[in-house]
Amino acid sequence: MSNFRYDEKTAIVRPAGQAGSTAARSTQEWRALDAAHHIHPFSDTSALNGAGSRVITKAAGVYVWDSEGNKIIDGMAGLWCVNVGYGRRELADAAYRQLQELPFYNTFFKTTHPPIIELSALLAELAPAPFNHFFYCNSGSEGNDTVLRIVHQFWLAQDRPTKKIVISRHNAYHGSTIAGATLGGMSYMHEQMPSKVENIVHINQPYWFGDGGDLSPAEFGLRCAQELETKIKEVGADNVAAFIGEPFQGAGGVIFPPDTYWPEIQRICRKYDVLLCADEVIGGFGRTGRWFSHQYFGFEPDLITLAKGLTSGYIPMGAVGMHDRVARVISESGDFNHGLTYSGHPVAAAVAIANLKVLRDERVVERVRSDTGPYFQQALREALDANPIVGEIAGAGLVAGIQLAEDKATRKRFANGGEVGTICRDFCFGGNLIMRATGDRMLLSPPLVITHVEIDELVDKATRAIELTAEKIGFA
Ligand SMILES: *Cc1c(COP(=O)(O)O)cnc(C)c1O
Repeated sequence: MSNFRYDEKTAIVRPAGQAGSTAARSTQEWRALDAAHHIHPFSDTSALNGAGSRVITKAAGVYVWDSEGNKIIDGMAGLWCVNVGYGRRELADAAYRQLQELPFYNTFFKTTHPPIIELSALLAELAPAPFNHFFYCNSGSEGNDTVLRIVHQFWLAQDRPTKKIVISRHNAYHGSTIAGATLGGMSYMHEQMPSKVENIVHINQPYWFGDGGDLSPAEFGLRCAQELETKIKEVGADNVAAFIGEPFQGAGGVIFPPDTYWPEIQRICRKYDVLLCADEVIGGFGRTGRWFSHQYFGFEPDLITLAKGLTSGYIPMGAVGMHDRVARVISESGDFNHGLTYSGHPVAAAVAIANLKVLRDERVVERVRSDTGPYFQQALREALDANPIVGEIAGAGLVAGIQLAEDKATRKRFANGGEVGTICRDFCFGGNLIMRATGDRMLLSPPLVITHVEIDELVDKATRAIELTAEKIGFA
């Protein structure tokens, strides 16, 4: 399956047929070179270099291997992106063929090429009916930058230049460009970034477990959505361009809003003529058992941001899908002064097409919806509902957030937010499981091709890590 041969004894990866090539190094050498020359994203470099990075050397299906020969089940699909699983030949072949045929050409100057034409037509086929136009970039962050450009062009073109403000939410994640990080509501990112994009304001997140107080989830969902109306009235509807949100918050902790939330958000956006933007970077391409997570929550956005699952992470690509009512205005308003050198890159497009065909032709999304998704959600609840430190399990399809808490009945969280999650994550690491922690919420989002047997393994390992955590902090 792979062109690389893995030597279990020496824990060294060598290109096939080149045993002893100078490319092969020991774990210690790799760690030393990494520490000497590589600055990692979202990391404390000196702490990381002291501990040493785990060197991931190969992957297949839902598993990755490290340079010490450990086989690790990847409960996060890389970074929420490897939806078709690792090692799919179709995607590698598509890239190889395209690299030979036409490795690059731009789409700026009255030119186009077959891969981006085919991808656009395929996305229009897979997305809900009103989404027929797509703009391309290289990442989710650039996708959200693009959303801002489209939103502003949309209102300028209709002679409503005062509509400039974009409303987002605290504890949202919309990427790490300046615009993405300003849109996002992660306080630690804002603190490190004194220069922000103008005209972006935030409202609260619909996090019932933490903030719901005495309200029922349904009441709380409505109240959170109505904060949008309050904010629109506060700054003036004539000044508000758009609202943006992840249908469910991913990096913020897999926070699923109550069912009442999105329909009310949509009602308010329509009432005040505010564009509704859904950041589908994690939710898109099958995660909830629907092609797009706004379909799961039952609303219709004006713009959708796409990345991650678009290529299953095999190669970088992002996009923005426009509802017909937006595309019409953008298409008829003269020059759209935005583009990236690699907008619509042919190799990325070829990989995206191969990826989407795997998801479509193998009925992966349907399987998540009617089979593996419900199986996963039920297995998690059976294993963990009675655990003394599990406060709630949120999720649908193949994504879940497990809230670790001191008391489930009163929804009392642990005092030192994040400490217990970190302990749990260390047990995962030791147990050859990749499960992420956001504060005290443990997150799972495995490849969508995961089988029942692999789900059993994933849930067993997650349960074990949480049980060990409970023991360690004296709750078992
Ligand atoms: C990951 C992510 C982004 C940013 O995507 P990058 O490709 O990392 O720039 C944006 N929005 C959401 C919801 C994400 O999860």
